[in-house]
Amino acid sequence: MNVYDSLRMVDLMRTLGFEQTDTPDDADMIIFNTCHIREKASEKIFSELGRFKPLKEQRKKQGKDLILVVAGCVVQAESAEFMNRAGFVDIALGPQTYHRLPELLRRLEQKRKQRIIDVEFPAVAKFDFLPAAKSNGVSSFLAIQEGCDRFCSYCVVPYTRGAEYSRPLNEIVEEARQLAETGTKDLMLLGQNVNAWHGEGKDGTPSDLSRLVKAVAEIDGIERIRYVTSYPSDFTKEMIAMHRDIPKVMPYLHLPIQSGSDRILKKMNRRYTCAEYEEIVACLREACPEIALSSDFIVGFPEETDDDFEQTMDLVRRVTFAQSYSFKYSARPGTPAAAMKDQIPEEIKTERLEKLQALLIEQHAAYNAGFLGKTMHVLLEDKAKKAGYLLGHTPQMQNVVVKASEEFLGQIVPVRITKTAATTLDGELS
Ligand code: SAH
Ligand code: SF4
Repeated sequence: MNVYDSLRMVDLMRTLGFEQTDTPDDADMIIFNTCHIREKASEKIFSELGRFKPLKEQRKKQGKDLILVVAGCVVQAESAEFMNRAGFVDIALGPQTYHRLPELLRRLEQKRKQRIIDVEFPAVAKFDFLPAAKSNGVSSFLAIQEGCDRFCSYCVVPYTRGAEYSRPLNEIVEEARQLAETGTKDLMLLGQNVNAWHGEGKDGTPSDLSRLVKAVAEIDGIERIRYVTSYPSDFTKEMIAMHRDIPKVMPYLHLPIQSGSDRILKKMNRRYTCAEYEEIVACLREACPEIALSSDFIVGFPEETDDDFEQTMDLVRRVTFAQSYSFKYSARPGTPAAAMKDQIPEEIKTERLEKLQALLIEQHAAYNAGFLGKTMHVLLEDKAKKAGYLLGHTPQMQNVVVKASEEFLGQIVPVRITKTAATTLDGELS
C-alpha cells in the first residue's frame, strides 16, 4: 500500500511540473513515506532523516532549499512527537491527506517556511482528488479498499489508516482501465482487508470482491489479477469460485493466519479458528488445485507458550505454504496487546522466529523444486541486474530470472525452469 501511495504522490507532483530523480543530490524535494506497523520500520525514518539534514543545511548555505516531506503512518501515529524529533522537516502528512500536497506546498511558500502538519481523516476520500493513474510498467497496484475496523489487539492499522473504506466500483474500474491503456497487464488489487471490499454493481445491487474482480477481468489488456491482503473470515464461497471460474484470477492467495494456536488467535482478536482457516484452504485447493498459498505469522505474542508456538509449527506442517512473511511480535504504543502481561522476552522471540522460518523456507524450497524442468507462463516485468537477463513472475507469483533480451520485456512467455531455490527460480525461454 505504501508503494501504491508513493506512486500516487509522484503522479500528483508531476501535475506541478516535478519529475522523479534517482539521486537526492538532484532533488528539490524529498518525500519519505513511512510505515508504523512494527517498531523497526517506524524507527527507520529517524535515522534516514538524519542523513538528509546536512544536505538541507548545505542547500541553505547556497541560498537554495531542499523541501523535506514526511508522509505515512508514523506521522499519523506520532504527529506531535514526530515534529519535535525532526524539527527540520517542512511538511508532515498522514496516509489519508497526501492528495493535499500541492496545497500544502503553496502554504509552505506563503508561510515562509513555517512547518506544516496535516494528519486529518478527511470526509471525502483522497482518491477523488488524485490525477489519472499511469502505469509504471506492466505490473501495477490499485488500492480498492483502505483502513480497517477489525482491531486485532496488536495492530496499529485501524488507528493510522482509519476506518474501513471501500472505493466505488466504477471508480476502480476506471482506474484499472487507465492503467490498462498505459501498459498494465498485471494488476494487484490492494487493501488492508481487501476481501472486505463491498460496493454496488453497475445495476445498483450489492457487490462483493468477486463481482468487482469480474468487472476488472472484462477490461481488455488486463491479463493477470491478484488481490492482497485477505482476512480469513471475510472469504466467501463466491471468492473461492472465482479462482476456479475466472482465468485472469491468478492461482495465488496471501491469507495471513498469524498463529496456529486458537488460544492466541483469540487474544489477538482474530475472529476465526485454525479449523476454519484450514477449511477455507481445503475448499480453495479443491476449486483451484494449482493455487499457491502465502501467509503472515507473528511469533512471541504476549502469553505465547512453547505449546502455543508448537501448534503454529504443526499448523504450518499440515497446511504447507509456498511463500510467507513472519515477524517477531512488536509492541505498538496504544494497542491493547502492548498493555498485556507476560510479554515474551526478545531471545525467545528470536529463537521461535528462527525455528519457524527454517520450516517455512524448507517448504518454500520444496514447493519451488516441484517446478524444475516444467514450462511456466512468465510475465517479464523488469531488467535483472545481470546483463542479458530479465525478471518476471509466474502465475503463482514466484520470482523468475530469465535469460532473455529486452525485446521480451512486458510479454508473457513460456519459460522452462532450469534451477530452483526458496525465493527464486531460474529459467530460459522455451
Ligand atoms: N490486514 C492484514 C495484515 C496487515 S498488517 C491481516 O489482517 O492479515 C501486515 C502484517 O504485519 C500482519 O499480517 C502481521 O503479521 C504483521 N504485524 C502487524 N502488526 C504487527 C505487530 N505489532 N508485530 C508484529 N507483526 C505485526
Ligand atoms: Fe491490522 Fe489486519 Fe487486524 Fe486490520 S485485520 S487490525 S489490518 S492485522
